[in-house]
Amino acid sequence: MSSAYKIIDHTYDTIVVGAGGSGLRATMGSAQAGLRTACITKVFPTRSHTVAAQGGIAASLQNNTPDHWTWHMYDTVKGSDWLGDQDAIEYMVREAPAAVYELEHAGVPFSRNADGTIYQRPFGGHMQNMGEGPPVQRTCAAADRTGHAMLHALYQQSLKYDADFFIEYFAIDLIMENGVCRGVIALCLDDGSIHRFRGHAVVLATGGYGRCYFTATSAHTCTGDGGGMVLRAGLPLQDMEFVQFHPTGIYGAGVLITEGARGEGGYLTNSEGERFMERYAPSAKDLASRDVVSRSMAMEIREGRGVGPHKDHIFLHLDHIDSKVLAERLPGITESGKIFAGVDLTRQPLPVVPTVHYNMGGIPTNYHGEVMTLGADGNPETVVPGLFAVGEAACVSVHGANRLGSNSLIDLVVFGRATGLRLKELIKPGSAHASLPKDSADLALSRLDHFRNAKGSLPTAKIRTEMQRAMSQHAAVFRTDELMAEGKHKLTDIYASMQDIGVTDRSLIWNSDLVETLELDNLIAQASVTMHSAHNRKESRGAHAHEDFPTRDDANWMKHTVSWFDGWGGKGGSIRLDYRPVHEYTLTDDASYIKPKARVY
Ligand SMILES: Cc1cc2nc3c(=O)[nH]c(=O)nc-3n(C[C@H](O)[C@H](O)[C@H](O)COP(=O)(O)OP(=O)(O)OC[C@H]3O[C@@H](n4cnc5c(N)ncnc54)[C@H](O)[C@@H]3O)c2cc1C
Repeated sequence: MSSAYKIIDHTYDTIVVGAGGSGLRATMGSAQAGLRTACITKVFPTRSHTVAAQGGIAASLQNNTPDHWTWHMYDTVKGSDWLGDQDAIEYMVREAPAAVYELEHAGVPFSRNADGTIYQRPFGGHMQNMGEGPPVQRTCAAADRTGHAMLHALYQQSLKYDADFFIEYFAIDLIMENGVCRGVIALCLDDGSIHRFRGHAVVLATGGYGRCYFTATSAHTCTGDGGGMVLRAGLPLQDMEFVQFHPTGIYGAGVLITEGARGEGGYLTNSEGERFMERYAPSAKDLASRDVVSRSMAMEIREGRGVGPHKDHIFLHLDHIDSKVLAERLPGITESGKIFAGVDLTRQPLPVVPTVHYNMGGIPTNYHGEVMTLGADGNPETVVPGLFAVGEAACVSVHGANRLGSNSLIDLVVFGRATGLRLKELIKPGSAHASLPKDSADLALSRLDHFRNAKGSLPTAKIRTEMQRAMSQHAAVFRTDELMAEGKHKLTDIYASMQDIGVTDRSLIWNSDLVETLELDNLIAQASVTMHSAHNRKESRGAHAHEDFPTRDDANWMKHTVSWFDGWGGKGGSIRLDYRPVHEYTLTDDASYIKPKARVY
């Protein structure tokens, strides 16, 4: 197979796939450690989805209100509905302030308080005094373009170090040998050449898989390619049933309106003009965590109190806020409101609806970024040598069943840095590489060749739309046994229909039809494990709201789901599930274990 395609070989100490916030931070760390580092990315680095992050990045700096890392830890554990691993959460919140100062020194133009310190805004689920309240101002913001500022600063920094960038290269598959990751195969989109990267470590920083759903706030490039590669390598993903719906996507367009809008005083109303969040979350109200607000909105719509001609959305009000404050702190969403909803939000309410936003699940790792799997001896935390994952692609797990707003950007830089530190410990710069097995490119090239020559009757876009509709219909904000069982059947059929896929362009140069097909192949496996993991979890926790099992069941379900997708190439796509224990312990004695209790806001 490999002989049909000419392969260009590269050798590095570290290969990072992805140049969003997490990939760039890992690239910097690896290069800083003196390791020869390559960063491969399918889009130009500053076009990664991180660029779209609006609201901000969480760290207990105490600039605007009192705060403490233990409060941040408490809120994150509670937000996760006790599915987050408390050792990893402790690591993240303690490292957070230093990580934000590092960004400040790298040139991120944070908004400022009058005294010159970094401005921090309130965000959903972030409170003072170990959850007691009032809301804390913990989210550091650069107006409503925080991700944009961060990504540009990180890209500039990473150019300072000696890393090689392979831009507009599409990574197809990992090179695995006897359970060890040895490198990755990629396609140069621009000239169609095939590249084999050999390395001591591969870091997957490929982002989320939001595009499994019909409407999502995430970019069209968020197709979970890293997760697809991991499943094909016979490794599991973790907690895939937990998909976050953001309360305020613009109705119809799906474009995000940051939670910072509610942080700055925005509120939601139903068709009766009622501020209904006061009923569902008497204390935090519109600033309850995302799963709670999204469910409340869905309830209002279901009970006939939605707004608009079809009573199928909700209003977000910002029209009472001083227009100077809007111009200074939320300029981006003011513009989005105009463009995507035709609304002047200084005067009118904005039509919004819960929209797929973030994947809590992903590639299981420890807090050093090392990928874990179920070992032959039954140890569910067996490290896969040579393979790392960071960012939204990974599941550390700090977000558990529900991520708090502004906790992703901090996850990117904290664990991107942690991965760099681990690489430094493990790899001696320039150490010798064993030669690769003869068949090292076969998996990647046989898939590439198969889809490139696929002559079936179904266009990629048609199969993708069917998958997206099935996910939006059967694994949404509210789920039932019946809905999810039906969803599983639909996805099996949709996966089988991949046998009849047709790709029209046979060239290798800027073949977007082919690349979208490879992306769909990644998406559909993750859609399948998401639906199966969801159907399997007989409780409600965080973003997984199961109507037949409306309460959280710690006795039976306080555990991570791990899922494998067997049977590529039309063998039916069978799914295997198992579990990994939640870490019910802290990293150090400075923090105390936060015991599960009912989650009210
Ligand atoms: C609209 C929006 C607003 C958000 N706002 C906030 C916020 O205010 N605060 C917060 O904490 N979180 C926010 N989030 C979440 C957060 O921004 C994301 O979770 C985070 O940016 C993901 O970063 P990442 O580094 O994991 O991946 P991404 O930024 O998604 O980057 C993925 C990278 O992988 C590369 N890649 C993928 N597949 C391949 C492949 N096959 N080959 C080569 N390269 C590949 C891409 O080119 C890209 O460089 C927001 C998310 C969205 C969608």
